[in-house]
Amino acid sequence: MTSNDSAPGFQLKIVPVTQLQQNAMVFWSTESMRGVLIDPGGEVDRLMQVINDLNVTIEQIWLTHGHIDHAGGAAESKRRLNCDIIGPHADDQFLLDDLTPGTYGIAEAESFTPDKYLSDGDTLDFEGLTFNILHCPGHSPGSVVLHQPQLGLAFVGDVLFQGSIGRTDLPRGNHQQLINSITNKLWPLGNAVSFVPGHGPGSTFEQERQTNNFVADSVLAGSHD
Ligand SMILES: [Zn+2]
Ligand SMILES: [Zn+2]
Repeated sequence: MTSNDSAPGFQLKIVPVTQLQQNAMVFWSTESMRGVLIDPGGEVDRLMQVINDLNVTIEQIWLTHGHIDHAGGAAESKRRLNCDIIGPHADDQFLLDDLTPGTYGIAEAESFTPDKYLSDGDTLDFEGLTFNILHCPGHSPGSVVLHQPQLGLAFVGDVLFQGSIGRTDLPRGNHQQLINSITNKLWPLGNAVSFVPGHGPGSTFEQERQTNNFVADSVLAGSHD
């Protein structure tokens, strides 16, 4: 899904932010013009300008995980938008406690506690849509994926990328746990699901099951972990 694709009645704008080109997103209803801001990692001034230009009213901030490039601008965004921060899973609070201004040039980075943590099986209702929450540890212990079945769309943070998977060398990362999250939680959602990762272009689960260097079916068939 690219930044210009749209589902009936809904639209997604992807805004890569920070030196790490993290995919911050605005997802909104074109009828009500109400939206959510997902992973505002930094460049909050620019994000606010985008939201203003779109004329969207942001109701909530959703976070996929606690790394600074995804969560660094959340506290400042909350202040400016006057809305709640939802997610990630509580197991990422240690990362949210360690958001230090200036890291990766993210001047506004600031520690916080979300208004609500997300757990496996939770749902988020937004403008008639229900997003299902899947706890997918491995890249970080508190990573969550947000899946919307009717749109066939998932926001996966740094769990899965086009052609790759998230790093597992960061604190409390775990390679096998990440593989298990992808194969046990994501693949059962169906090959047709389109996903937006935390960095780089989107893809589908089908494409990754065919071609991903780490989690293609053919690759995993040859591993004996
Ligand atoms: Zn990350
Ligand atoms: Zn990231």
